[in-house]
Amino acid sequence: MNQQQFENFTASSLYCEKCKTAMPVRERLLLVLPDREIFDYLCIGCGSSVGRREITAGERLMAQAIAARPRRRPTIVHQLAP
Ligand SMILES: [Zn+2]
Repeated sequence: MNQQQFENFTASSLYCEKCKTAMPVRERLLLVLPDREIFDYLCIGCGSSVGRREITAGERLMAQAIAARPRRRPTIVHQLAP
């Protein structure tokens, strides 16, 4: 797996021209195409768009696989029936 790509994908702060500094960003799904999705990154300080990213179907599958990994504080999604 390419670690560099993964870090790029999970970038949580980007430079905001309005705030004049690197700001945490919020990811917003902008457009869904048959083979890719386009995300907009919004500054959480002023709400302006500070970046955009295309995620291909292959990258999305990889991201889902990463997201599905157990974390330090796992949350229980499904409870088993008694
Ligand atoms: Zn900003």
